Amino acid sequence: MIRAVKGTHDLLGTALAYHRTVVEATRRWAEAAGAEEIATPIFEHTEVFERGVGQTTDIVQKEMFSFTDRGGRSLTLRPEGTAGVVRAYLEHGMKVWPQPVRLWYAGPMFRAERPQKGRQRQFHQTGYEVIGAAEPEVDAEAVALSWRILESLGLRGLTLKLGSVGDPADRERYNAYLRERLEPHAERLSEDSRRRLQTNPMRILDSKAPPDRELLTELRVRPMLDFLGDAARQHFEAVQARLRALGVPFEVDPAIVRGLDYYVRSSWEIHHDRLGAQSALGGGGRYDGLSELLGGPPAPGVGWALGVERVALAMQAEGLSPVPAPGLDLYVVPLEPELVPRALEAAAAFWPELRAQYALKARKPGKGLQEAEKKGARYAALLGPDEAAAGKLTVKDLKTGEQRTLSPEEVKEWIRGGTA
Ligand code: AMP
Repeated sequence: MIRAVKGTHDLLGTALAYHRTVVEATRRWAEAAGAEEIATPIFEHTEVFERGVGQTTDIVQKEMFSFTDRGGRSLTLRPEGTAGVVRAYLEHGMKVWPQPVRLWYAGPMFRAERPQKGRQRQFHQTGYEVIGAAEPEVDAEAVALSWRILESLGLRGLTLKLGSVGDPADRERYNAYLRERLEPHAERLSEDSRRRLQTNPMRILDSKAPPDRELLTELRVRPMLDFLGDAARQHFEAVQARLRALGVPFEVDPAIVRGLDYYVRSSWEIHHDRLGAQSALGGGGRYDGLSELLGGPPAPGVGWALGVERVALAMQAEGLSPVPAPGLDLYVVPLEPELVPRALEAAAAFWPELRAQYALKARKPGKGLQEAEKKGARYAALLGPDEAAAGKLTVKDLKTGEQRTLSPEEVKEWIRGGTA
């Protein structure tokens, strides 16, 4: 038997219901904030991510699904959404729209990571981007929106960790400090971190490797926050003040470093207390330099992504149910073989106002009702020769047992009235 590729999953049944619940919550809140939906392609020219996410990041170095197309161009399945959205912002000249532009999206992302609980090779994110504004208000808006979406799903075990990675010059000073501090002990670092020491020392702080963690603690390495310049510090304080005013609880996490190179200033993650090692439900940050990295004019931006599967796991851990998929309203049962085509016609006449299906084989009334129940329908409609002659259906409410013989129009009225 051919199975789904390792690290990928089919979405159906309960998993799909959770998925849809998270996507619909994002849609509702993002649209409430005035955002427009965008759907970018799931693959891009590889350089969108190399430039946008950063050559030295784990994502670009180890986790991209890249391939060469027939014309010899390197393409990559998107590992995240922001770089593609900013590419689209530039390509469609959104710079001349009233600024800032607010966009939201939902879709699959691809990373060649080792699959484990909460970590897949194809996973899904919903995201929100505000492009064309540098004010701290929009950082707070974005953070608050992601927080409230998660709260609206009923989640309680949430922690918002807020940090700042400063401006590029602050990061250069911090990277120089890290190099100076760690280089004398380089032989104790993991192999990955020895490489990071050359390319991007800040990434070492993100390392989970025990020798790296030990060394960082032992050396009491100072956090990025100590290196913020005046502008970044003022921005960080303003974001915190706005969040307090909006009633969004947060912890300042001096060590927060996010996986992508393009972040400046605000950077945050939302964690859940019952997910073990993969506890981040989502994260975001400000990416003022990204547009220029992609060859565009300056266009400051801020945004976040939520991991849909992780949010679903957190909901399950808290015993929260998804919004159930809508079931069948009506199941039409032909009582004679020659009435099967009429059953199709009857069911089709109810679309799309009612969710209606029909049996492909004639059934005795009792068997037909049973089948309707198995299908999860609320009503069963029996179609025998008498009904066919009169242009009617005998409809039974499977919950209350009430039964009426009605024309299709009357059926619609009855059922709409009953389910509205
Ligand atoms: P990131 O862009 O890495 O900050 O990812 C944002 C969110 O997406 C994370 O907080 C996770 O919830 C989710 N996520 C990232 N990578 C994976 C993965 N490989 N499998 C499942 N969810 C993921």
